[in-house]
Amino acid sequence: MKDIMPAVNFNYRKNYLERETNEIIIQLEEELKFTKERLQTEVNSNIIMKKALKSQEEFIVNISHELKTPLNILSATVQLFSIYCSNGSLDKMKSSIINYIGSMKQNCYRLSKLISNIVDSSKIETGFFELHLSNNNIVEVVEDTVMSVTNLTEIKGLNIIFDTDTEEKIIACDPEKIERVVLNLISNAIKFSDKGDKIFVNIKDKDKFVEISVEDNGIGIEEKNLGTIFDRFKQVDKSLSRNAEGTGIGLSLVKSIVELHCGHIYAESEVGNGSKFIVKLPSRNVSHENLTHNKKMSSKNENIKVELSDIHL
Ligand code: ADP
Repeated sequence: MKDIMPAVNFNYRKNYLERETNEIIIQLEEELKFTKERLQTEVNSNIIMKKALKSQEEFIVNISHELKTPLNILSATVQLFSIYCSNGSLDKMKSSIINYIGSMKQNCYRLSKLISNIVDSSKIETGFFELHLSNNNIVEVVEDTVMSVTNLTEIKGLNIIFDTDTEEKIIACDPEKIERVVLNLISNAIKFSDKGDKIFVNIKDKDKFVEISVEDNGIGIEEKNLGTIFDRFKQVDKSLSRNAEGTGIGLSLVKSIVELHCGHIYAESEVGNGSKFIVKLPSRNVSHENLTHNKKMSSKNENIKVELSDIHL
């Protein structure tokens, strides 16, 4: 009896210690797993944050450049006017002053476009961008927009051709926003085309949807970039954008506006042979039209000047 007791005690203690150790090991393993998971989450969120910061940095660089260019022009012109005022040459310089005023206006439009693009882009991100839907003849909306740029395309030596397979197609849309979409696509077509090139704007009634396309025979877009040009702040190599200014916001806004209309946009292109942007809008009507905003269409001329302000004349 005397001999057995310590052995029992020893085994009992040994088992107890083993159980304790195992529990501690399991606990430590769980803690290690949890720490690893937490670290992985931190690494992932760091990667996401780095990407967001990079995109933010690119945005600031792009925007600063776009803000500085018109501001420098405006400030240099103001300085010049001050010199004319102080040396009494205002009258003598009248004709060049008129030209400078034209350039100042153009640069004010550029600033205005940039600011409204930034504001709208952030409204879209936060879900505050609103459409004012009403039933409109989409053929008329697009044709009027094309007609409004013919002066500019003529000055640029480009030929713009509008074609449709129907005279009337009433669909629910926000005409001011659709005008902006079409102007943006035409503005890009102008920017990336050369004298003598052609721009085709077509409408096709596909029954369940309407297809609007803007096609140019300009510089084209590499296939690898076709998917990303609709991303915010994305610009294909700036050196290729010969006649271009821009921030890379335009197409992302266009895409958002089309998608808010429950539509779809995509691009087809071949380097050196031009690009085609295709917008598909559903054929549907709204029973309650929101016409409050459409009264603003009276400032159409201003809208056009603002939208096309980054094209060099
Ligand atoms: P940006 O304000 O720079 O014009 P967008 O979002 O409108 O920005 O366009 C993004 C990029 O897509 C442009 O910088 C250009 O590289 C390319 N792109 C858009 N439209 C065309 C086009 N019609 N032809 C060639 N490249 C185009």
